[in-house]
Amino acid sequence: MNKQNMEVEQKQACTELLQLVIDGQATPEQHQELEFHLERCEDCREEYLLSKSIKDSLRSHIKPNNSPTGLANIIQNKISETASLK
Ligand SMILES: [Zn+2]
Repeated sequence: MNKQNMEVEQKQACTELLQLVIDGQATPEQHQELEFHLERCEDCREEYLLSKSIKDSLRSHIKPNNSPTGLANIIQNKISETASLK
């Protein structure tokens, strides 16, 4: 009956798992769990790739000349890229 609620709860659980992995705080078991989940869940796969690319951008753009505005643009672009895929 409450299929929608269930999906929302499930989504929340996998988003939490995703954040743990992105933050590098997940256990090896959680890594495996996420990998397994990403194969089945397109939403999470997108979100995972997005979060990962933002994190990579943050890491590779830490240079003295890089302005916060440039970084915000990169993130904004990534977000609209993903949004336009839907
Ligand atoms: Zn998911």
